[in-house]
Amino acid sequence: MINNSLNGLNLIIVGGGTAGWMAANLIKHHCPDAEVTLIESDKVAPIGVGEGSTPYLKQFFNTLGVEDSVWMPECDATYKAGIRFPGWSEVSGFESYFHPFFSELDIPTAEPFFEFSKKALRGVGQPVHPDDYFVNQPLAALGLAPVAKDPSLNIDYGYHFDAVKLGQFLKRNAQNLGVKCVIDHVDKVFLNDKDGAIKALQTRTSGLMRANMFVDCTGFSGLLSQQTYALTFKSYADYLFNDRAVTVMTKADSTLQAQTTSTALKNGWAWKIPLQSRTGNGYVYSSKYCSNDQAEHELLSFLGAEKQGANVRHLSMKVGRLSEHWHKNCLSVGLSQGFIEPLEATALMLVQYTVDTFIRSFDSAKPVLENNQQQVNDKVNCLTDGVLDYICAHYRMNSRSDTAYWRDCRDAPVPPTLAILIEAWRKGEDFDAVLQHQHNELAYLRPSWYVLLAGMGCFKSSNCHRQFDQIAAAKCKAKAQHAFPDQRTLLKAYSERVKAKAKS
Ligand SMILES: Cc1cc2nc3c(=O)[nH]c(=O)nc-3n(C[C@H](O)[C@H](O)[C@H](O)COP(=O)(O)OP(=O)(O)OC[C@H]3O[C@@H](n4cnc5c(N)ncnc54)[C@H](O)[C@@H]3O)c2cc1C
Repeated sequence: MINNSLNGLNLIIVGGGTAGWMAANLIKHHCPDAEVTLIESDKVAPIGVGEGSTPYLKQFFNTLGVEDSVWMPECDATYKAGIRFPGWSEVSGFESYFHPFFSELDIPTAEPFFEFSKKALRGVGQPVHPDDYFVNQPLAALGLAPVAKDPSLNIDYGYHFDAVKLGQFLKRNAQNLGVKCVIDHVDKVFLNDKDGAIKALQTRTSGLMRANMFVDCTGFSGLLSQQTYALTFKSYADYLFNDRAVTVMTKADSTLQAQTTSTALKNGWAWKIPLQSRTGNGYVYSSKYCSNDQAEHELLSFLGAEKQGANVRHLSMKVGRLSEHWHKNCLSVGLSQGFIEPLEATALMLVQYTVDTFIRSFDSAKPVLENNQQQVNDKVNCLTDGVLDYICAHYRMNSRSDTAYWRDCRDAPVPPTLAILIEAWRKGEDFDAVLQHQHNELAYLRPSWYVLLAGMGCFKSSNCHRQFDQIAAAKCKAKAQHAFPDQRTLLKAYSERVKAKAKS
């Protein structure tokens, strides 16, 4: 049993990466009377990648009351209306598709898209492509920002940002809220003999640090959860082969498209994330199929970039999750709790969800009993496994034939929920009914599943030509052009506002 009020707690967060600072902001915001200290090591740098988000991050800043016009200029940030996926399919007419963040603006065109897709699955009519039916697709391509000129139009969007700058911004914001920051390295973790809870941390220069609750944000090393408690780690490696990434920055594009581009290459896929002053690129691949050097070479030639020395970084990734994110008086958040590869940029969403769910479990006046802890763990596991289903679907449904990697991805095992969805889609069953039936297990909702499966051309009649819906596409384009401003112009206005405020 843990104290019944988070507000009364003395809490230590270990780790000053994005996860640590997001956790610090949320906890201090919701529980201003909690004593929150964050320890960040000067020996281990944050991972420094993770530059794309889902719309969850918008809620995060809304919760903190921080406006886009305040944080975006400081973090080199841009808007994201969705993700473009070129090269995942060889089906004619379906070589590339856009996965939009869905909004109410899409309803008039999205419903016909679902219906046409279902018909095509039954062999009635020709396959349709999602690019014709969602407003965010032309919006992103045209370099517009998904912030409606009319504020009553509610549209979801995510962001791209410089990970290091975001960390610095969040640190300042947390300190302003009253979070104490200690620069030190934790060498040892002491447990209570009686109940096995964490008692104190041995730091290199600040001595022993004690608290009632600890948050492990130490990244892949998982100092508290994995090294100290040796909590069970459920690997996703059988489902997802990618375990490495190589990254490089290039110049900013002249048109600032509000989209991440995730292009399938020979042994994985490459992201392109447009920031205001530069473009972030990375190749996520499997070390079983490709060496570091091969991956670096393939990425640089794909980008047409010169070798840029120190600019190129190689990273390892461990894919999977803990079974228990909250164990005794330790909550694991961020890479320490697990990681699904960054194909849909979901890691910070899981950070936010874990911390929010943890905080909410203290809402009731009841004492926080172990079943609350179990509920938090179950919810986080459910969301993580739901994300895994969606990420896995990209690999399972690919139709590339050029390398062993892509052929093997097609033959790899899939988690049970995904297996049900794929079978239903392939057999032309009532896909909506199956989605409804699996609803509790799904992290991604109806539009995302249709977009992925139709967008990759997974139709029985895939030999037929794609049916272009000129009318729907024109409607979406007109809506985008009418309702949304140019992204560069909007971001410039934000920067000018920040400068003017600094002067006054
Ligand atoms: C290739 C790649 C691409 C990614 N892309 C995305 C993306 O597009 N979108 C997204 O949401 N996420 C993405 N992620 C995930 C994202 O990078 C992380 O979720 C995010 O940066 C949070 O990391 P973290 O804070 O958990 O860990 P880290 O950034 O590794 O921070 C760990 C912190 O712990 C501290 N620490 C470690 N040991 C000690 C110790 N003994 N004592 C004291 N302090 C210690 C370190 O100093 C550091 O401050 C990506 C990850 C990878 C690998």
